[in-house]
Amino acid sequence: MFQTRNKYTFCITGSGHAGMEAAITNLLDPDDVFVSVVHGVWGERAATMAANMNARVVKLPVKLGEVISLDAIEAALAQHKPKLLYVCHGDSSTGTLQPLNGLGALCHRHGCLLLVDAVASLLAAPVAMDADEIDVLFSGSQKCLNAPAGLALISVSDRALAAIKRKKIIASFYLNLLKIAAAWKCDNDAESYIYHNTPAISLLMALHEALVVVSEASIERIIRTHNEVSSYLQAELERAGLQLFVRNKQHRLSSVVLVKVPAGVNSVSVRRYLLDNYDIEISGGFGETQNTVWRIGLMGANATRFNVDILIKALREAIARQSPTLSKL
Ligand code: PMP
Repeated sequence: MFQTRNKYTFCITGSGHAGMEAAITNLLDPDDVFVSVVHGVWGERAATMAANMNARVVKLPVKLGEVISLDAIEAALAQHKPKLLYVCHGDSSTGTLQPLNGLGALCHRHGCLLLVDAVASLLAAPVAMDADEIDVLFSGSQKCLNAPAGLALISVSDRALAAIKRKKIIASFYLNLLKIAAAWKCDNDAESYIYHNTPAISLLMALHEALVVVSEASIERIIRTHNEVSSYLQAELERAGLQLFVRNKQHRLSSVVLVKVPAGVNSVSVRRYLLDNYDIEISGGFGETQNTVWRIGLMGANATRFNVDILIKALREAIARQSPTLSKL
């Protein structure tokens, strides 16, 4: 799924945040320099976690709805010489898909490790851990994988593993990746199970079933479906006169589409109307986009043209009820 041969690829009982916090606590020591690329909410949270560890945090802000260039990242790496760089591949708060091509090699040329958040992008876009030289990659079970919430999937490169092993103290016992990996027998073939904490067996069984579905359909086909249905949604939203938040098509995350709330329309009432009348839930903005956008999730089994058609019908109705000038949308 992560397109990796890393032996250290396993699950943590906990949500996507557990993957983020595990990576940060296992890699950073106090006073280490940490650069967080801030596309939206997630880069801020990664920065907070690193600050809580007394790391020296540098935020690299990205204009809302846009992605960052390799040149801008290179300048930050040269200036700050961080130990670790965080980047969110698919940012669900801004709807952006950050290209990762060349980023790992760039980090490694500057002696930095690369941490990638693929919670919202796994199966919505290709995630090539080895080819892109990603050091720690994490995702969640509940998004495009279509499994219940409660598991973080994580993979650690040899380079990152060596850095973790060099540390004197790992500040979290529960999220100690070496101990969890030992329980998963990542690099030992011990006969007996090495207990670390009680795993969420029911969630693991559900994830197993979700992975069976993925392997039967193929990763490529699932990514293609997310992209096709998302392109259809984007085109239909534009046909309805609405404006997409991320201007550059190439940089749109297929699994979370952000659309601007038209002037004069009450965002909350529209969402309420969809829920009450169609059982459809879309989100409001998150972070800086709080009251200005809707966020439409298209993930796993929900990513169908049928669902898009109902949503567009419902949205047109909800908007027309509020704004006579927009009633012809
Ligand atoms: N990163 C991204 C990009 C996310 O979209 C999310 C969840 N929306 C998270 C991290 C956190 O995941 P969780 O809610 O499973 O802890």
